[in-house]
Amino acid sequence: MKISNPEKIFKEFLDKQLINYTYQVKDLPYKADFYYKDYNLIINIHGCFWHNHGCVHSRIPEKNTNYWLSVFEKNKARDYENTKKLKALGYKIINIWECVLNDEKAKAQTFKNLERIINGAI
Ligand SMILES: [Zn+2]
Repeated sequence: MKISNPEKIFKEFLDKQLINYTYQVKDLPYKADFYYKDYNLIINIHGCFWHNHGCVHSRIPEKNTNYWLSVFEKNKARDYENTKKLKALGYKIINIWECVLNDEKAKAQTFKNLERIINGAI
């Protein structure tokens, strides 16, 4: 099972929280990255390029631009549909961008917020 770098960073964080999560859950409407059963919470790590974040890491390639635009449109539509489906099934969903995990300040803030959610303070 291949694990991407941002996922690795996130996995280390989750391991520190000592929570009982599942990685790459297959019995959901789509393969979610992380699933925290006790809280019915799904956390996806979104690659900035593939999910077309709009940040500096999601530049649209100059070659085959139309092709890439259609790929990104499809990915975004799929993200939207997946989120809608899972929310309708009662799941809580948090999507985390790759660039956030690669920025120490943004990462610290995100992890702090997540800790609060995981500990049930919100
Ligand atoms: Zn980004």
